[in-house]
Amino acid sequence: MPRRGWPGIAYIQPVGTRSSGIRCRGRAADPGHHQQYDCTKLQSEALNRRNFNTLFWHHPDGVFSLSPGGRITAANPALAVLTGYGIEALLTRPAVSLAAAADVPELRRAFRQALAGAPQTRDLNCLRADSTQVEVQLTLLPQIADDRIAGVHGIMRDVSQRRRDERRIVYLANHDPLTGLPNRNLLQDRMQHAIEQAHRHRTRLGVLFMDLNRFKVINDSLGHDKGDQLLGVVADRLRKAVREADTVARLGGDDFGVLMEDVKHADQVRLFATGLLEAICKPVDLDGQTVSVSTSIGAAMYPDDGADPGALLKHADLAMYAAKDAGLGQFRFYEAEMNVRALSQLWREHGLRRAIADGELVLHYQPRLDLATNRLVAVEALVRWEHPERGLIYPASFIELAEEIGIIGSLGEWVLQSACRQIRAWRDLGLHPIKVSVNVSPLQLYSEGFCDVVARALAQSSLEPGTLELEITENSLMENIDTISIGLDALRRLGVGMSIDDFGTGYSSLSYLKRLPIDTLKIDKSFIKDIPGDEDDAAIVRATIAMAHSMQLRVVAEGVTTFDQVWMLKAEGCDEIQGYLLCQPLAPAEMESYFRTCALRGIQYAWAH
Ligand code: C2E
Ligand code: MG
Ligand code: MG
Repeated sequence: MPRRGWPGIAYIQPVGTRSSGIRCRGRAADPGHHQQYDCTKLQSEALNRRNFNTLFWHHPDGVFSLSPGGRITAANPALAVLTGYGIEALLTRPAVSLAAAADVPELRRAFRQALAGAPQTRDLNCLRADSTQVEVQLTLLPQIADDRIAGVHGIMRDVSQRRRDERRIVYLANHDPLTGLPNRNLLQDRMQHAIEQAHRHRTRLGVLFMDLNRFKVINDSLGHDKGDQLLGVVADRLRKAVREADTVARLGGDDFGVLMEDVKHADQVRLFATGLLEAICKPVDLDGQTVSVSTSIGAAMYPDDGADPGALLKHADLAMYAAKDAGLGQFRFYEAEMNVRALSQLWREHGLRRAIADGELVLHYQPRLDLATNRLVAVEALVRWEHPERGLIYPASFIELAEEIGIIGSLGEWVLQSACRQIRAWRDLGLHPIKVSVNVSPLQLYSEGFCDVVARALAQSSLEPGTLELEITENSLMENIDTISIGLDALRRLGVGMSIDDFGTGYSSLSYLKRLPIDTLKIDKSFIKDIPGDEDDAAIVRATIAMAHSMQLRVVAEGVTTFDQVWMLKAEGCDEIQGYLLCQPLAPAEMESYFRTCALRGIQYAWAH
């Protein structure tokens, strides 16, 4: 029976002897031999001092003995490798010198307790000879000789890789791998914690919910790599915009959330959200391709709008939908009525799918006036959703959803057919032939067979292709010009007109425009709004008209509301105007009476007879 020093494993005592009571019980290694055994038996049967010596020298963990004074009296080669000291240098060294300064008190405590007979296990940082640190799991066991504790045995295991793996697992469980932002899990944890703090200190919290408008279109048209790149840029912008104490999280897809802690007043949240809209809604350059970004933000406050993370997020989400309903780039606080309307995504999806089938979609029409002849030359078809409970819903709140859930194709086809049918009906009533312009989503243009859809709609209403003009926004054109231009060429061959909508809001260059088979350019209403007073806008409008004309494009000014705007546009040679000055978009019957009475407004007869 070994008595002294390593490698006695002296604390293993024959069962039944008086000792510190430490007894080793385990299962036999042979799975077919499950009987319980005593270490004592093993000791006597198989392991002798030489075996223990072998174990000691070859054990992959650092194994050592400490004197009652805490100095190392034996150390195996693995400990030398782990600590970076040679075995010689380890002997007589105080064990505490192997611990990082912050862990020394803990090591002392563990040592004292082991010396008092209680085995100890601790996670510590070991200070290596080269002053680097390594995470170890340290086990200290009383070393018993002659029925008394003669020192302490130690096992030091390098757990740095395991801890790194564990931390990585925890990180991955709590972060979004693409942006590195906290995920929904972590945000909810932080919200829970923040709610407890806010409850204690009687402060408030702000929870913001936002998504990127038309992200799906960008993702589908530019490819997922660019989509991911865009999400990364937005995540960076968000990170930069928030205070240090706040948490930004990616909640999935293009949804992001922000937790604002220690909020004194709701205005603080409003101010922050408005700043955020501005910070995010700047164009993004994706490897030379400029993409515009916009978002809508909804916010819910603790404790006013919810008492737990789930309720707060849900209400901020509802508020975001209300913000979307108000148009692009808007912010809304949650209001109780929003809950009643229950604008959940699922509800909307279901509703929109049903809307097409149940005939809840309608088209309104807004006329375009030729400034040279003072004649109505076209109407733009604008889709609306006549919701049985919510009333008229505008396209800003459902076109993107239709794109996302993959029904923009059928919605767009319905719009094309209805618009063509309407023009046919007006013609049959004797209306002077006018064109109809229909807005199309880039996803329609990408889809195979779109040309056939257009041709069919025209043929069904016996209209010549020149009656139809397709409007595509400048932004969506720029998103994937190469694919789109193939689609546009085919449509052009069919003979339909093509216009760029909302011109000026995208970032197209002239060289790009030249490559496209377009014939009309519609200047966005944001440039028309303040002319002729605003000199910058006036200069932009002037230059745009000149540029368009040099490329043989017709120019339509959108959103015209005053005669001053008309005079200036006329003077600059703008071809057509559209806007509330003429009339708001009207239902077909109202549009018909507008046609009948437009002469009274100084507008040329739109009727042939
Ligand atoms: P848009 O094609 O630029 O249509 C003009 C928008 O400006 C319409 O909004 C119209 O009501 C509004 N508007 C017209 N005159 C004035 C004015 O004087 N002042 C102001 N402030 N606004 C004016 P609406 O109908 O809400 O449509 C918004 C957008 O939704 C459209 O912008 C178009 O991009 C899209 N959209 C509409 N119908 C369809 C459709 O059938 N398919 C697709 N893909 N998009 C559509
Ligand atoms: Mg349009
Ligand atoms: Mg427009």
